[in-house]
Amino acid sequence: MKIQLTNTLGHNKEVFTPLKEGFVGMYHCGPTVYWNQHIGNMRAVVIADLVRRMFMYNEYTVTLVRNYTDVGHLTGDNLGDADTGEDRMTKAVRRENLTPDAIAQKYIDIYKHDIGLLNNLPPTHDPRATEYISGMIELVSELLKNGNAYTTDQAVYFDVTTYHEYTKLSGQKLAAQEVGEGHGSVSDPNKRNPADFAIWFFKTGTHSNALQTWPSPFTSPLVEHGEGFPGWHIECSAMSKAFLGETFDVHMGGIEHIPIHHTNEIAQSTCANHAHFVNYWLHNEHLIVDGKKMAKSDGTSYVMADIIEKGFEPLALRYFFLQAHYRSKQNFTWESLTASQTAYKKLRTTLSGFPDDGIVSESYQVLFHEMINDDLNTAGALAVVWELLKNKDVADADKKATILDFDKVLGLKLDEKVVEQAIPANVQALIDERTQARAEKDWVKSDELRDTIKALGFEVNDK
Ligand SMILES: [Zn+2]
Repeated sequence: MKIQLTNTLGHNKEVFTPLKEGFVGMYHCGPTVYWNQHIGNMRAVVIADLVRRMFMYNEYTVTLVRNYTDVGHLTGDNLGDADTGEDRMTKAVRRENLTPDAIAQKYIDIYKHDIGLLNNLPPTHDPRATEYISGMIELVSELLKNGNAYTTDQAVYFDVTTYHEYTKLSGQKLAAQEVGEGHGSVSDPNKRNPADFAIWFFKTGTHSNALQTWPSPFTSPLVEHGEGFPGWHIECSAMSKAFLGETFDVHMGGIEHIPIHHTNEIAQSTCANHAHFVNYWLHNEHLIVDGKKMAKSDGTSYVMADIIEKGFEPLALRYFFLQAHYRSKQNFTWESLTASQTAYKKLRTTLSGFPDDGIVSESYQVLFHEMINDDLNTAGALAVVWELLKNKDVADADKKATILDFDKVLGLKLDEKVVEQAIPANVQALIDERTQARAEKDWVKSDELRDTIKALGFEVNDK
C-alpha cells in the first residue's frame, strides 16, 4: 500500500519512495538540554514516533536519529537571530550551579523518562552534539574550501548568496530573513549579508566567557588555536551525516524550523557534501493552550510532571495527541485531556474484557492502514477503532486482535490488562467504621482509622 506524506519541500502530498528498498533513514531535531521540555515538545516527539511506527507497520526497517543540543544554542535563536544573544548553557550553569555536562545529563534523563512514559520507542541513535565536534569542524572546513563560507574576527559564516536554492524550503524571499537582524547584542560589521549565519563562533566578544569551547583549524586574530564552538545549525548537519549519510529519506521537526534552522541545514549539507540532502521534510504544527501560544509567563508551559500531578495517565496525553492531525495546531485544555482520558480508559477496559485468540479483521486492517498511510491521519485511524468496536458482526475476540494490531502504530499499550483492584473485606469494614465515626463527629477516631487503612496500603479520599 502506498504511503503519502506532505513534503514541505514542494509543499505537496507525495508518494513515499525510499532511497533503499525496505529501509528508512529519519532524523528528528532533538531537544536543547538546558531546561525541561513542555508538552508541546512532547507532541512533536509522539508525532515522530507515530511516523516511525507507520513506516514499521509498512514493514520498513527504520533508523531514527534524534540529537541532544548540549552546546551552541543562543538566546537569539528564538528571535530567528541565531548569531546573537547569550549562550544558553552558560545561563543554565549560573542558574543551577552545576557543570555544563551535569546540566545536560540532568535534562536528558528527565526527557528520556518523560518520553518513555508516552511509550515512544527509543531512537536508534541519540547523539549529543558535544560528541560530534570533529564532524562539525570537518563540515565547516569543507564549506570554507568550497567558497561557501568566510571568516571574520568573530565567527565563520555561511554565505547564503553562494547557494542558489537557499529559500527553496521556506518559499520566503531572502529579504524576509533580515527581519531578525539587529535584535541581538552582537552585530558583526564584517558579515557580508544579513542572512549569513555563523557555523563556528570564536571565543571572543559576547562569547569570551563561553564555558564549552574547542580548538579549531579556523583563524581569528582575537583567539588562539581557533578556540570556539559550533553554530547550532551545523550540529544537525554533522550528526545526520554521521549516522544516516549525506543523503537520507526523512527529516522532521517543528514548523518554526522551516525558515531558518532547516533552511540552513540544507544549505550547509548540500554545499559541504556536494550531494542532495533530504528527500522528505515533515513539519509538525504547534500545541497551543487555551487557544493561545504556550508561555512560561502565563503558567501554561506545562511539563509531564504537571500532567501526572493532576492525576492523568501519560498515555491519555498520547491519546489526546492522536486526535489531531500533525500538520494542524492542537488546542490543549484540561477539559479536553479529561475527555481523552475517559475515552482511553473506556477503550482499554473494553478490550481487557474481550477474549484472546481472535483473528485480525482484514477489512478493518485495510481501513486503518489507509488512514495512517494517508499523511498519518491518526484521527481517522482512531475513528476506525471506535467503528470496529461498535460493529455487531465482528466477534469480540477478533475486535481485540485487530485493535491490538493497530496498537503497533497507536502505541497506547492496549494489551495491558486493566485490573480494577477490589477493596478487601477487612479494609471495607474499617472504611464503614470510619464513616460511622465521621457521622458522629468523632474526628480523633476517624483520623486513627484513616491511618490504619493507610497502613494497609489504601487511601481514603473524602472528596
Ligand atoms: Zn536540527
